[in-house]
Amino acid sequence: MLDHDVIIIGAGFAGLYQLYRLRQAGFDARVIEAGDDVGGTWYWNRYPGARCDIESVEYSYSFDPELEQEWDWSERYAAQPEILAYAQHVAQRYDLRKDITFSTRVEKLDWDEDATRWTVTTDDGQSRTAAHVIAATGCLSKPSRPRFEGIDDFAGLVYWTSNWPHEGVDLAGKKVAVIGTGSSGLQTITAIAPIVGELTVFQRTPSFAVPAHNGPNERLARVRPHYQAYREASRMTRLGFQCDDGTGFLAETDPAEAAAELSRRWDIGGLCYNSGFRDILTDANANEVAAEYVRSRIREKVEDPELAEKLSPRTYPIASKRMCVDTGYFEVYNQDNVSLVDINEEPIHRITSTGIVAGGIERECDVIIMATGFDAMTGALGAMEIRNGDRTLRQKWAHGPRTYLGLMSEGFPNLFTITGPQSPSVLSNMMTSIEYHVDWITGALKHLREQGLNRMEAALDAEDNWVNTTNDAADLTLMPQAASWYMGANIPGKQRVFMPFTGGVGTYKQICDGIAVAHYHGFELS
Ligand code: FAD
Repeated sequence: MLDHDVIIIGAGFAGLYQLYRLRQAGFDARVIEAGDDVGGTWYWNRYPGARCDIESVEYSYSFDPELEQEWDWSERYAAQPEILAYAQHVAQRYDLRKDITFSTRVEKLDWDEDATRWTVTTDDGQSRTAAHVIAATGCLSKPSRPRFEGIDDFAGLVYWTSNWPHEGVDLAGKKVAVIGTGSSGLQTITAIAPIVGELTVFQRTPSFAVPAHNGPNERLARVRPHYQAYREASRMTRLGFQCDDGTGFLAETDPAEAAAELSRRWDIGGLCYNSGFRDILTDANANEVAAEYVRSRIREKVEDPELAEKLSPRTYPIASKRMCVDTGYFEVYNQDNVSLVDINEEPIHRITSTGIVAGGIERECDVIIMATGFDAMTGALGAMEIRNGDRTLRQKWAHGPRTYLGLMSEGFPNLFTITGPQSPSVLSNMMTSIEYHVDWITGALKHLREQGLNRMEAALDAEDNWVNTTNDAADLTLMPQAASWYMGANIPGKQRVFMPFTGGVGTYKQICDGIAVAHYHGFELS
């Protein structure tokens, strides 16, 4: 006798929607969540300035037209409190919390081939059984926590953007150091610069950032009357949101025209900046034109030319690392109380009781904010011991993740991943990708039930082909050239392999739809 048909791990947007769909389809499902409420990313990452960089018209669920019509997003880009309120509303509206076990972390999954079931062991010592497990554990949910020498000696306070105190932090007038200038770092720095006494930013790699031009959400009213058709179109795009993709090649465009188009996109703001031309991600020269345009805008914003140069990315192609969307980030460096330490020139040696020593100089601070990112895509899966006999997923993925469609991995039957590695995942509007995976997985489970089957596993040859396909697709682009978290390069010792599928959301959907129609070709069903 099984405890549940399905156990879902994680109560972020993926786990919540998966629970809703499975319940609707008549499955008995239970969610296990480490946090004490729903929301995932938006539950944990409460740092000042935390905000979505996909427009709220697109970054929301599409599964219920009534929800879509009723929920109002106040801004073009929603801030973390509003997104968290939305997740909480969804949980309440569909009465999801009754099937979620909170404050409980899954530590171990054990596959029993004879009984065709998983045993799921949690940190409270309990075990539950289920026919299927769905890991909705998140791509950016396992923080990367580099150990700085001397951190325990620090007499001030240390905070992590990825686990910000719920009660907030009073930074007014304080001497604050921020380590890290990725998306979370940029947002934090911009938000706190006006209120802190002194701000010292420690930067390893500067980020490309385009302006958000945030404001009231005027687009929502225009989209609402035909929202479902709008969503359908978004599902077929490359990025899972609509960008007015250019059809020309930058390399073949007159330089003045190219500059005008980049400038037009800059003025619109947001992540569609790179979608003006088809070759920005494949042609190094075209990429450099788009990159240099951003650098020229940084030089306009930052008064000190030397500082502007330090803030200008030069070591990797634009968009090969996660692009940032900013609201006055670069201008912050014109403030007298803000300084930048380039840790390539002045490496961090250690932390003392009173500050951070870099390049032989101690910068005093009362508070250190770590914006050091995540063990992306595989971190949360690798944190669990996922075992089938003497094989573990951790061992199998030691040289990089191996999946079929980013949905399953051979040797680990009845275990699905939502937005797993080798699916478009973090290269997309995650809401589009989450909904797609949930619907696909739900369809597969219904198919098994209808056929009287109870076991599904990725076939090894299909998996090998998909791994090659995703690697080949990535190698056609400039993306693997950056030492990015997409490559696992931010985690010491992690195998460098480009993890997400670069072929685009629409193409991926067509592939996966076709595979389901073809009786789940490449999966073994029994
Ligand atoms: P998560 O929201 O990460 O939820 C996973 C949940 O699983 C977590 O609550 C975690 O506690 C739980 N969990 C993990 N392991 C275990 C375990 N072993 N046991 C129990 N529970 C476990 N995406 C975009 O598309 N656009 C954006 O602008 C954007 N901005 C982002 C900004 C930040 C700061 C971060 C961190 C991410 C951002 N993302 C963005 C990605 C974001 O993660 C997704 O959009 C989305 O929220 C992911 O939902 P999820 O449910 O898949 O995962």
